[in-house]
Amino acid sequence: DGPVIIVGAGHAGYQVAASLRQAGFSGRICLINDEAHLPYQRPPLSKAYIKGSAGPESLMFRPEKFYHDQTIELIAGRAVSIDRAGRKVLLASGEMLPYGHLVLATGARNRLLDLPNANLPDVKYLRILDDSEALRKIMPSKTRVVVIGAGFIGLEFAATARIKGLEVDVLELAPRVMARAVTAEVSEYFQARHREAGIRIHLGVQATSIEAEGGKVTGVSLSDGRHLPADLVVVGVGVLPNIELAAEAGLSVAAGIIVDEYLSTTDPDISAIGDCALFASPRFGGSLRLESVQNATDHARCLAARLTGDKKPYDGHPWFWSDQGDDKLQMAGLTTGYDRVVLRGDPAKKAFSVFCYKGDELLGIESVNRAGDHMFGRRLFGMDRSITPEQAMDESFDLKGALA
Ligand code: FAD
Repeated sequence: DGPVIIVGAGHAGYQVAASLRQAGFSGRICLINDEAHLPYQRPPLSKAYIKGSAGPESLMFRPEKFYHDQTIELIAGRAVSIDRAGRKVLLASGEMLPYGHLVLATGARNRLLDLPNANLPDVKYLRILDDSEALRKIMPSKTRVVVIGAGFIGLEFAATARIKGLEVDVLELAPRVMARAVTAEVSEYFQARHREAGIRIHLGVQATSIEAEGGKVTGVSLSDGRHLPADLVVVGVGVLPNIELAAEAGLSVAAGIIVDEYLSTTDPDISAIGDCALFASPRFGGSLRLESVQNATDHARCLAARLTGDKKPYDGHPWFWSDQGDDKLQMAGLTTGYDRVVLRGDPAKKAFSVFCYKGDELLGIESVNRAGDHMFGRRLFGMDRSITPEQAMDESFDLKGALA
């Protein structure tokens, strides 16, 4: 027993606090928040929020009153070290917080670009609300943006910038967009859609320098010798998990804070969840670190259950989404290691799903503007069922029937 101290008030940190109260935990809960806002949702930062005029309050999970009513202590500050022997966390303010259980929900931070001029004010990243606010503010005065990195966030931003009337160039080192995360079929669809919208996508190239005059960005030079003019650069080249606090406390870390299938670190009084956690997965084998709202919130619920007496290994079913222009991509399952894909629907009609198989085993489904297929996939995986490739490609096959 004793207080539960949660470091990081993102999706995972907020959810574990809320779920603990929901499960009847009556002890002290402190949520350490190093951002200057109430806990908020991140996905709209590169989507609706950056497009619109709604204020920051539209992103908050809950109003301030919720934390008050639930006696969840929101503590503004940053955890700087952990005294494991004394079971205390030290904050940057000098305050020491004793814990019965410590939850590390420290998330991830942007991988920074290591190029000349990369720290100029017109070179932006997109991870926190302040980043999105800053972009919203400067975009109306900009005409040409170069987006470095064609992952989800880079492409979501690129689509929005184009809708807002900017000239947009996207640079990607890989031979196709979102190459690490989606099938070639989905990459090709989105490449075509973004190009139709007037976005120039440059594949197999790297930014080699950012040019500036008088502290203002004037363009980006590419590895193939070309030069693209720009007055704004947005970087989306991935994230690094925030593992330093754990590592300095002597906990095991690798490409994330190492936790077992119960999300416990090598110290039974400390757990790690969400983007920062490299967790053992009996279902998928080996260990995984995922960056998604589903992963963060399901980890949080699993941990809250354990801390209130319902100990079960984490066995969430991954799902994810990305909104790019008018298209909605949704993914269910984990597609790594597929050797065969089957299409349902038609990319030419802007609505299709890619079913990914390893042999006859269905690993995952990527759906573009086919929400029904996505929901089907989530329910199917949740029931530990499958359908054959022949059934998947046959539009007359009744998906609902497979769930009965
Ligand atoms: P985070 O949300 O990163 O929260 C961690 C918090 O801990 C941060 O506030 C950080 O500042 C804080 N922190 C770190 N160290 C300390 C410390 N020492 N002391 C105190 N606080 C600390 N996922 C989807 O599934 N779908 C999407 O469409 C989608 N879109 C996204 C769009 C953007 C722009 C971004 C940035 C992410 C998106 N994601 C999306 C990913 C999703 O937001 C993350 O997977 C999720 O936020 C992870 O939650 P988390 O709580 O683990 O980490």
